Amino acid sequence: MSKAISETWVCDSCGKEQVCKVWTSINTQLDPELKLKLIDGTLNFFNCQNQNCWDTKRFVDILYHDMDKGLMIWLMQNYSSQNSINELANSLVNFCDLNQKRILRIVKTRTELIEKIMITDDGLDDRVIEVLKSVFVQQNKIDSGLECNLLYTGKSDHPQEGIVLTFNGSLPVMFNRPNPITVAPIRISIYNKINEILTQVAGPSDKGSWLEINSNYARPVANILVKNDWVFGEACG
Ligand SMILES: [Zn+2]
Repeated sequence: MSKAISETWVCDSCGKEQVCKVWTSINTQLDPELKLKLIDGTLNFFNCQNQNCWDTKRFVDILYHDMDKGLMIWLMQNYSSQNSINELANSLVNFCDLNQKRILRIVKTRTELIEKIMITDDGLDDRVIEVLKSVFVQQNKIDSGLECNLLYTGKSDHPQEGIVLTFNGSLPVMFNRPNPITVAPIRISIYNKINEILTQVAGPSDKGSWLEINSNYARPVANILVKNDWVFGEACG
């Protein structure tokens, strides 16, 4: 089930104190409306009750639980692998039958959480998506080695290419330059190739352990693919 707690927020701007009902975990089957609010940004988001004040507060940390997909994603802004695993494991007892292995993920930002939700809702494996992004960045030598942030944005039907995966790209904001980049859609066949390779290397899925599946996870696998001139294939137009 979903769980909420009361948190006191003292507004930085005006000092007004208010008690907020903050959701610390959501179960998407029992409370689908909370998932919608999470995605549209209204969950755990508060406006200062002082009418003359425009300040807002977002409580970010949350545990996302999709029972149907056997998936839990923990968004912890200050996660550190050294101190948090036991805490996570203990909290799990409240949620599920531990005999059933789940896909367990840790993310540190709301953006990462939303991306993971989109990836899994589209029936894709986030490990494959991260490797795909990493290969793409390396092979395209984006902006002289500055690694860009690619975000999965969806699956769509391309008139010539069939199913394609779409991404948004941005470069880290450096030297005060805004850095949006355009990424052409990527064929599902590229995804399937990486999926095959990754399944051989890492097994069909990593279940039962909390993992951060991000560019650090993907880079070693992507390095091997790129070094061996594994052909990424042309992006479609
Ligand atoms: Zn205020």
